Amino acid sequence: MRILLQFPEGLKQEALKHAEKLEAEGHEVFISASPTFGACDLAIDEAKNIGAEKIVHFGHAEFHKVDFNVEYVPYYIDADLRILDRSEEPLRQYKRVGLVTTIQHMHQLGKVEEFLRSKGKEVVIGKPFGFAKERGQILGCDAGSAATIDRDVDAFVYFGGGMFHPLGALLMTTKPFLVIEPFAGTVEFIDRYREIYRKRSRGRIQASVDARRFGILASTKNGQDNMPMARILKSRIEAAGMTAAILVSNTFNFESLDNMLEFDAFVNTACPRIAIDDPDRTRRPLLSANELNEVLRIKDDLKAGN
Ligand code: SF4
Repeated sequence: MRILLQFPEGLKQEALKHAEKLEAEGHEVFISASPTFGACDLAIDEAKNIGAEKIVHFGHAEFHKVDFNVEYVPYYIDADLRILDRSEEPLRQYKRVGLVTTIQHMHQLGKVEEFLRSKGKEVVIGKPFGFAKERGQILGCDAGSAATIDRDVDAFVYFGGGMFHPLGALLMTTKPFLVIEPFAGTVEFIDRYREIYRKRSRGRIQASVDARRFGILASTKNGQDNMPMARILKSRIEAAGMTAAILVSNTFNFESLDNMLEFDAFVNTACPRIAIDDPDRTRRPLLSANELNEVLRIKDDLKAGN
């Protein structure tokens, strides 16, 4: 069979090893060298272009249904659990704890839960929600398993690598949020970022109040396709007497956006994390859809003289 292998950036270093194994089994194997940001980003067009019958996508769980043969190969990481001892003191005052992690540590969730229970905590693990497939699982764009238990817990615990996932969950919740990061060896509350991100958002909104021409980012990645929303936002901007164009790309390049000098501001409908994590990578404001709504509301108020 002709197969296209796809790896997220952190696993590309193992691509050849997997290709050789499949070739030894008699397959014709190709490796996608394109950036891969998540399971929202299946290389279906590449696979079709080379006549592949199947994509083997490493490192992510299924995100959305597609009309193509895709095999998902999860990648589990065994993190050192001894770091859990260091969470006892910071969690001392919290009784009911919401527990979340990523798919890479899902197999360790039970052990973390056991540890917290042994320290007298009531552990709440949210059901899979949206794009997530496992209880307690969060994705960069889906923290539903945290948000849905926000009212039921005194604090959250995230166990796993990096800050990308817990930051998304932090912004969807209101309770103290402890990150146990076994690779960096850190155990810390990250609540301060709620205010930092809120202020940045406020700054983007204020910087866009005089904008007249908006570029709306619409991704062609199969799991990020949000063209109906892009069209709605375009109509809304035009109904307010301004100009908008939908900008299409598979992977948005910030230098290319900077070259589009006619636009005063951009609005994101692609991966929601672009407007949260990357807005400073363009020289003009890059808004989320909610932030655009706020900009339009302020413009309305100003027009009405309020
Ligand atoms: S949409 Fe963004 S956050 Fe969600 S899986 Fe794709 S790259 Fe990750």
